[in-house]
Amino acid sequence: VRTPMVIGNWKMNLDHRQAGQWLLEYSGSGQNWARRMEETGTVVNRVEIGVLPSFTSLLAIRDMARKTDLNGELSFGAQNVSELDAGAYTGDISAQMLAALDCRYVLLGHSEQRRYHPEDDAKIDRKMRVVLDSGMTPIVCIGETKLGRDDGIGIDYALNQLVSAVRLLSPEDMCKVIVAYEPVWSIGTGTPPDPTVIESALADIRDFINATFGADVAAKVRILYGGSVNPNNAAQIIHRYGVDGFLVGGASLDPTKFAKICHRV
Ligand code: 13P
Repeated sequence: VRTPMVIGNWKMNLDHRQAGQWLLEYSGSGQNWARRMEETGTVVNRVEIGVLPSFTSLLAIRDMARKTDLNGELSFGAQNVSELDAGAYTGDISAQMLAALDCRYVLLGHSEQRRYHPEDDAKIDRKMRVVLDSGMTPIVCIGETKLGRDDGIGIDYALNQLVSAVRLLSPEDMCKVIVAYEPVWSIGTGTPPDPTVIESALADIRDFINATFGADVAAKVRILYGGSVNPNNAAQIIHRYGVDGFLVGGASLDPTKFAKICHRV
């Protein structure tokens, strides 16, 4: 059984003070599962919830999550990492630095990184290694551009990215990986694909994992959907077969909207 998850990718938004404010508002939004269970006497679905702030907000988030009763209810991670260990690499952040801040996840290969930085598939598989070796969970993003989709390449484009990102992993490592399918043309546009298209794309991804790593691994890997998820469309998408959760961009900046999406899962 795969625990569903919702991850908020804040991108280059919210400085550390705003991040602190976000956490305060979020903790007041009734998101605390344990408390809700006690108060209502009902069983609430267990959902793994996390946010990916900017590097500069990680320390504030870590300290505040510890102080509030959100500790253990809300995880966090980084939006990127260097594939290198340490040394003369100005401007880079190592996996060890992120692990020292108690990061649980590291996002890899987001389409905005692939587009605005020289992020290539070879680099991503090295990053996968350093993240796993540091005891964190990689969330690897794949997805075709509008051009790819119009050319009819669609899911094959995304699958090629996945092939490259996971090619050096053992089945044991692969079980720890989270895959996020984010068609580039649906990011920030307000128009996700039809839920049936999402279901079929995620099924293709799971088929690939099954063929490459075996059925046991395919049954364990969580596959998320990302791109224009909001409180209004979340329920329709999550109910499709094989959708294990969401990677949320814009809507995650508003703690109330984010909490609503979490409640739909
Ligand atoms: P939006 O939810 O703003 O479309 O962004 C999706 C995304 O890129 C998450 O990583």
